Amino acid sequence: MEGSIKEILISREEIAERVKVLGEKISRDYFDKKLMVIGILKGSFIFMADLVREITRPLEIDFMLLSSYGNSLQSSGQVNILKDLGQSIRGKEVMIVEDIIDTGLTLKWLTDTLLLREPSSLRTCTLLDKPSRRIVEITPDYNGFIIPDSFVVGYGLDYSERYRNLSDIVIVEP
Ligand code: 5GP
Repeated sequence: MEGSIKEILISREEIAERVKVLGEKISRDYFDKKLMVIGILKGSFIFMADLVREITRPLEIDFMLLSSYGNSLQSSGQVNILKDLGQSIRGKEVMIVEDIIDTGLTLKWLTDTLLLREPSSLRTCTLLDKPSRRIVEITPDYNGFIIPDSFVVGYGLDYSERYRNLSDIVIVEP
């Protein structure tokens, strides 16, 4: 499966500007707290790298790798942890960083799962949100952009493992 690039949806300049604003907001909200930022691989890796550099508070980072869509464009709703955190989050101020929230199934499952580990607080930060596709009710605490119902790649997001290295977020057609 290749997919072809249709158009730029969000440019690298717009992304940088928005990530800076998110970082400032998160820094204010956690001004007296030490944050643990959990990046969800692989799609969030570039967003995570840029975002943490815009947060001016002390923080720790870790990553989780969840089973992905594979080659399909649809969420199955079945999530498996392929790589778990290297440490306990009990009593910590935790923020999950995700690339995109679509049906909401992944983030809902993940927040339910991490809450069982008793963090002191748990918030979510997504770069992109497609609210029109939501199946379960969940709203990220921080979000970069609301986007229409198109399949997007770039800035970490892939289509069959391609396009993650694009600097802009672009719409791809199967
Ligand atoms: P959800 O469980 O909310 O339906 O899906 C979340 C996951 O689906 C994301 O972490 C991402 O891996 C994938 N996904 C959903 N929409 C898109 C999209 O437009 N482009 C890409 N590359 N992945 C998507």
